[in-house]
Amino acid sequence: METPKQFTAVLKGGMMPTPQLFTSVRKIGIVRDGKVAFASQEFTPEGEVLPDGTEVIVHLVNGPGATRISFESKAEREAFEEWREREWARRRQAEEAERARLAEERRIRQEAVVADLKERVPFNWTSGIKVVYSGVLEHSSLTGMNRRSVTHIATLDDIACGRLKRKAEQFLCDTDNGKMFAHLDRDGEPLCPTCPKCLEIVERLIRHPKLTIAPKDDAPSAPGP
Ligand SMILES: [Zn+2]
Repeated sequence: METPKQFTAVLKGGMMPTPQLFTSVRKIGIVRDGKVAFASQEFTPEGEVLPDGTEVIVHLVNGPGATRISFESKAEREAFEEWREREWARRRQAEEAERARLAEERRIRQEAVVADLKERVPFNWTSGIKVVYSGVLEHSSLTGMNRRSVTHIATLDDIACGRLKRKAEQFLCDTDNGKMFAHLDRDGEPLCPTCPKCLEIVERLIRHPKLTIAPKDDAPSAPGP
C-alpha cells in the first residue's frame, strides 16, 4: 500500500496563519468549494485538489513567502495506518514463527548430538559449565549466564589415556582447579556440549584403544602408559 498522496495549498497573501496551525495535534480540515478550509481560514490548492467534502489532514510547511500547507485525505491516511499496523503485526508473527522454527531445529540437532555421544562415549559423563571462584560464570556478565558460554563435557568416572588423565567431575578440556565444575543438565539429560576442545578430546578418547575407566574415587585399575 502506498502512502497517501500529498497536495499543497497556500493561504491568501498577507493573512496571518491561525495559531492552531502550529500545534502538534492532528489538524483536520475539509475541502470546500475547491479550497481547503481549516480553522476558519481558506487555503488555495497549488495544483490538484481532492473532491469537495473530503476530510483532510493538514500539515504546516515551512518556507519563504506564503503560508503553505500540505494536505492529504484523512480516510486514506487512516486506511494506510491500519494497513501498516496489520503489516507490522504480520511481520512480527512471521519473525516469531521463524525464531521458534530455528530453535526447534537447534533443539533437534543438539538432541541428536547428545544421543550419539551417549551411545559412543564409553565412560559416564555429563555436561557442565565453568564457574570461577567468585561464583561468576566464565565469559558471563554478573547478571547471569551469557548466551555464548560454552557447554563442556565432564567425566563422571576417573579416566586415563596415555598422558591424559581426568578425575571424575573434571572437564575434558581443562583441569584448572580455579574453574569449578558446575553440573548443568535438563531433566537429567546432558546438554549438548559446544566446547570444541571437549568435543575433539572426546572423539580421541572414543577411538583410543588404551582408555581406562574407573568409577569415581577408585584408583584407575590399569593406568595408561
Ligand atoms: Zn571444554
